[in-house]
Amino acid sequence: MIFEYTAEFAKTLDQKNELGALRDEFILPQHEGSDAIYFLGNSLGLQPKRAKSYVLQVMDQWAHFGVEGFFRGEQPWMKYHDQLLSSLCVFVGAEPAEVVVMNQLSVNLHLMLASFYQPQGRRNKILCEAKAFPSDQYVLDTHLKQRGFKPEEVIIEVQPRKGEELIREADILSAIGQHAEELALVFWGGVNYYTGQVFNMETIAMAARSVGAKVGFDLAHAAGNIPLRLHQWDVDFACWCSYKYLNSGPGAIGGCFIHDRYHKDPSIHRFAGWWGNKKETQFLMQKQFEPELSAQGWQLSTPSPMLYAAHKASLDVFEEAGITNVFQKNKELNRFLWFVLEHIEREVGRDLMKILTPRNEEARGCQVSLSISSGKRVFDELTISGVYADWREPDVIRVAPVALYNTFAEVWQFGQLLKSAIIKHSS
Ligand SMILES: *Cc1c(COP(=O)(O)O)cnc(C)c1O
Repeated sequence: MIFEYTAEFAKTLDQKNELGALRDEFILPQHEGSDAIYFLGNSLGLQPKRAKSYVLQVMDQWAHFGVEGFFRGEQPWMKYHDQLLSSLCVFVGAEPAEVVVMNQLSVNLHLMLASFYQPQGRRNKILCEAKAFPSDQYVLDTHLKQRGFKPEEVIIEVQPRKGEELIREADILSAIGQHAEELALVFWGGVNYYTGQVFNMETIAMAARSVGAKVGFDLAHAAGNIPLRLHQWDVDFACWCSYKYLNSGPGAIGGCFIHDRYHKDPSIHRFAGWWGNKKETQFLMQKQFEPELSAQGWQLSTPSPMLYAAHKASLDVFEEAGITNVFQKNKELNRFLWFVLEHIEREVGRDLMKILTPRNEEARGCQVSLSISSGKRVFDELTISGVYADWREPDVIRVAPVALYNTFAEVWQFGQLLKSAIIKHSS
């Protein structure tokens, strides 16, 4: 499609788009009496209006039935988990048995490392991206220490080349080749939180498995942002959070993918709890742990139905819209955002604004990261004007308009506010 650089054109794009009405399913933060421009779907997705009633249903069931709420009422809590699977499987590209909804992201990373980091002799290295999200670095570091390794001897980081911001795929693949005999695990992010770079997970997974390493992904910035095919890509495990693009609320319940080849594999050890036991025998309170023969065998603790409910509220909105339609609109919004930003980049010059995110469409999702000189002042100006964006030291503004509640008109308006803030603070 040929875009036009006008407010009217943005408005026409909104009118033509079939998902426009979905915005009404969400509660938008207000700024001076009208909707703020909320471009933080990559940080905390907005609240679906129906989330409150879903959560209240759990509260009511608790009030009416006490512990019997696990088995009685309209939405027995014992059955809640499985109702989340059909949409999650579409998001991550998995079989229902391969997905488990539990805990939160950093916790799940430790649990997956307990199962899938299996060092053997010289094969004990973990290959990962440099400057991963801090929590992932802390997880790897402390997990390795706990297992008796020195992180600096085991972790191999792949860096961007000197003077570059993005990690080249060729460098990842060559690092895998170079350390082929020593790699126990390749652990990578699907989308880098800082630059918005989307990695080719299929290629990375294939390369890792071909040298005999396991491969796992952190999908915090990928789930709900870009289409995923974890089963088909032959990924061993993956973890995600659901408060970002999946709009399931602060501290929302997270999820894991565990490839079905491991569900009955006795060589894979795990940290177990009673909620991972076979459903038929869970309440017999036997001495011996008998895992459920699916990803659900990795559950430990009694899950919160309140968190399930908030999660389901959002998944239902996606499902009603059609998840592939949502991905399509994400792409169109992002294309228009790029069109506007490249226009501004030409107007103000790359000295004042540089786009860090890859230009190649295959390597980007909803998020765009901008490096802006006098970035903090520009960011503050945007905030005062009612734009919710994200600030990262030293000079980066990240924005992520999303299909469910953002509009082309907002993208246009954001562009104009950004341009005037950059020009105002350029001296
Ligand atoms: C958001 C994010 C986290 C946060 O982890 P929690 O355990 O959910 O707080 C971790 N890793 C990455 C890559 C993230 O983007």
